[in-house]
Amino acid sequence: MDRQSDVAPVRAFWEELSLPGLVDAHVHFLPPNIQRAVWAVFDSAGPKIGREWPIRYRQSHEERVELLRAMGVRRFSTLPYAHKPGVAAYLNDWSRDFATTGPEVIWSATFFPEDGVAAYVGELVAAGVELFKLHLQVGEFHLDDPLLDEVWGQLEDADVPVLVHAGSGPVGNDFTGPGSMQRLLERHPRLSIIVAHMGAPEVERFLELAEQYERVRLDTTMCFTDFFGVDYPDRLLPRLVDLQPKILLGTDFPTIPYSYVHQLEALARLDLGDDWLRAVCWENGAALFGATRAKGAAPEAHWLT
Ligand SMILES: [Zn+2]
Repeated sequence: MDRQSDVAPVRAFWEELSLPGLVDAHVHFLPPNIQRAVWAVFDSAGPKIGREWPIRYRQSHEERVELLRAMGVRRFSTLPYAHKPGVAAYLNDWSRDFATTGPEVIWSATFFPEDGVAAYVGELVAAGVELFKLHLQVGEFHLDDPLLDEVWGQLEDADVPVLVHAGSGPVGNDFTGPGSMQRLLERHPRLSIIVAHMGAPEVERFLELAEQYERVRLDTTMCFTDFFGVDYPDRLLPRLVDLQPKILLGTDFPTIPYSYVHQLEALARLDLGDDWLRAVCWENGAALFGATRAKGAAPEAHWLT
């Protein structure tokens, strides 16, 4: 693949907006064995995917980090997520080491409703973890699972954001949809939650949660692109303007079937204005995660591969 054809249009996009670059809240870097397993699911268009999904960015980790840097993505997450009990600790150890790659990496972790979860979440929070990721469709649990009771109080107090794939896309199950997030926020209204994919397909219900709760934000991941199977209703667009400070650029890099710039073009053609684009693509993410990693948040690798 010609790298310059990826890099040049992305840089042109943020340069035209006079931005210093981009902050991407929704990027995945997973341990190689897990990454292969996830991609196999996408390649087979398995039941959790439901359609053909040709992944564009299959380079090595190093090449993908270099590509993000070259495109001017100044901060990006890594978003591990667990599909069963007992694997979060492994994913978190790997992710913590990966975060030593450079200050662009938003140190990410995950958790699962399981024994000991409050202990390892507490340890990560104390160590300076910057973001958690949960995936309800893959993990098959509810946010208000009693095993997580203690965790939510910790995260609410620490104000560490949790990015949640909660919407019923691409294929819903008993655990997806806004129900468990609604119940959780009633009990913990100050939680910092980022709703992945704008909550698609339940975009209006999740939009309401972002309007109602001070620290609920939406990420744009795959929304508004030609590939995405959900049409965002035009009538909701004015409310996205009102929510300008709470919308974050997300892309799902590298597991996307189109060029990175397509997500940016998809946002631009909404025609919500350059100020909106500047807020979404840079300012909001920089305000939440920092334009560079906070000094205290530098992880110490404890097992390097
Ligand atoms: Zn994702």
